[in-house]
Amino acid sequence: MTTTETETATHCPYCALQCGMNLVPRNGLLTVAPRPDFPTNKGGLCQKGWTAADLLAHPERLRTPLVRDRKCGDLRPATWDEALDRIADEFTRVQERYGRDAVGVFGGGGLTNEKAYLLGKFARVGLRTANIDYNGRFCMASAAAAGIKAFGLDRGLPFPLEDIPGAEAILLVGGNPGETMPPVMQYFDEQRRRGGSLIVADPRKTPTAQAAALHLQLTPGTDAALAHGLLHIALRDGLVDHDFIAARTTGFETLRRVVASYWPDRVERMTGVPVAQLQEAARRLGEARTAMILSARGPEQQSRGVDNTLAFINLALALGKAGRPHCGWGTITGQGNGQGGREHGQKADQLPGYRKIDNPEHRAHVAAVWGVPEAEIPGPGRSAYELLDAMGTDDGVRALLVMGSNVVVSAPRAGHVEERLRALDFLVVADLFVSETAALADVVLPSAQWAEEEGTMTNLEGRVLLRRRAAPPPEGVRTDAEILNALAGRLGRGHLFTDDPRAIFDELRRASAGGAADYSGITYERIAREDGVFWPCPGDGHPGTPRLFLERFATEDGRARFHAVAYRPAHEEPDDEFPLYLTTGRVMAQYQSGTQTRRVAALRDAAPRGFVEIHPTTAQAFGIADGETVCVATRRGDATVSARLTPTIRPDTLFMPFHWAGRARANLLTNPALDPASRMPEFKVCAARLGRRSES
Ligand code: SF4
Repeated sequence: MTTTETETATHCPYCALQCGMNLVPRNGLLTVAPRPDFPTNKGGLCQKGWTAADLLAHPERLRTPLVRDRKCGDLRPATWDEALDRIADEFTRVQERYGRDAVGVFGGGGLTNEKAYLLGKFARVGLRTANIDYNGRFCMASAAAAGIKAFGLDRGLPFPLEDIPGAEAILLVGGNPGETMPPVMQYFDEQRRRGGSLIVADPRKTPTAQAAALHLQLTPGTDAALAHGLLHIALRDGLVDHDFIAARTTGFETLRRVVASYWPDRVERMTGVPVAQLQEAARRLGEARTAMILSARGPEQQSRGVDNTLAFINLALALGKAGRPHCGWGTITGQGNGQGGREHGQKADQLPGYRKIDNPEHRAHVAAVWGVPEAEIPGPGRSAYELLDAMGTDDGVRALLVMGSNVVVSAPRAGHVEERLRALDFLVVADLFVSETAALADVVLPSAQWAEEEGTMTNLEGRVLLRRRAAPPPEGVRTDAEILNALAGRLGRGHLFTDDPRAIFDELRRASAGGAADYSGITYERIAREDGVFWPCPGDGHPGTPRLFLERFATEDGRARFHAVAYRPAHEEPDDEFPLYLTTGRVMAQYQSGTQTRRVAALRDAAPRGFVEIHPTTAQAFGIADGETVCVATRRGDATVSARLTPTIRPDTLFMPFHWAGRARANLLTNPALDPASRMPEFKVCAARLGRRSES
């Protein structure tokens, strides 16, 4: 811990690596300095982290609430009292007219644990609505559901990053940390220096894939077929660990029958990955003494995302590469608090501590902590897209509070979501800037930034970290906790709330005690002293749990579960009308919906506008030149972006990053078909058409 009078040790506000950094005052502003002693990033930061403090004094920053003028219809500055009174009045009016569930809450995977916890409590106790969900549903939901099904517990990585170099082979499926999370690559670099091999499965030859020993350039949406094909070869070639299967798992025989038909040349036809590469990958993973399989949004953000993820977990289990040091399946979490955000109650079906909202014992425990009768806690609400899709309809929400999310840019089928937002009776957005979603709101509340408030974040390893306050918020700006506390007061529930982050965290600890994600032994002081504490940490004397599953898995009988999932094609495959696959993702210099990073000059210069990657052969067939403005269309709509020709993408596939607004929005195109278990939309694959702008 290196906080001094002149510098504050904290963490980057963006992705799930949560790089340690120092904030140093210089000429009246805070600037970012490296924090080489922090154990995860070891001083490394990407361009987003280096420039994160640029937004603290940004001229476009909101410094006063805005309310929509009833006469002229424009947003105008207002006092906090006027804005909060209007919200409380409108929420009350809507609930009296349409019922409690007619007011919804939409949170974000970047909120601290305290804010995620408080937002979940505000929905259930302040508003007493069932309808709360968050944008993490668009990020981690499939991996979370698969982890619970297979291991009985969802923690992104069941081991610390420091274990990665000890894996002799790693298969990374549908992730590009070399570009989106560069400091984490030091662990993969070290793994290769020690003689290990990295295999990357991705439709694009990304910077991460270029660094790999083997790149499996699969057809979008064929992930489960790839996993089954690798397991088929492993069985055929005697690479499966039958002792491990017998001792620590159940359900293998049914799976064996499923994968029997995934013979290599059939899998080559399904996935586009040559048989020789399939065999090479299976051999590297199977012969290694230690191996990891890591997935990311590629296989997970699909309407079969849970099955895809389970198929790779099956492979790890069958090879005996789980529940042992330097082995295991894990997911590379995306959003800053994607992990903690899904543990503490802003998901439609969850209560804090990973408790379930439909479990009577879980409800009773949380109700006692909250000081309300158990019967007052509502049941499960709608998942994120279902909540957005039904906005303004007879049985949907009529009013919505959005905190830390910009769904006009980040939700699938974004044009439709924008229409539904306009159909609401009343929309409130709390944000740092007038985001594209805030621009539609009836009330906009200016929120404090990460460096202006205390709180905890849980990184991709399950390590709970301390975000320290380096400066007070500017005059006129309030923290999200202050906002929720003030609203709860106006709704007559103020006695059940506090806006003090430490008091909220203490309450969270009690609410999580005994739950799957038990934080009861974690304190701010311990986090500071130990550079983070891994959950579960049940009690003051507990050391925390960096490595899960070494003795037993978290299922009732301690055994991991195989799942005999079948490969099914994507919800929408290319056809005559839409002959190409479209996949979406991120670039290095932008983050998520771009509300923040599009306002940082250096990042805007590095990645100024939306584009579509096209293979040169495909571009030639469509008569498209590099840099030309083109139209990409799907059954949901069309977008206008510039063409970027690259041989690193499959000829049958287009790639668009999703950070930009307006006509460049990739999510105008994406398919909201949902995974039946995780309710994850199919961001990663749909059928698309390409045209020159003049023809569109
Ligand atoms: Fe921030 Fe992630 Fe970049 Fe680290 S890798 S500096 S946490 S955006």
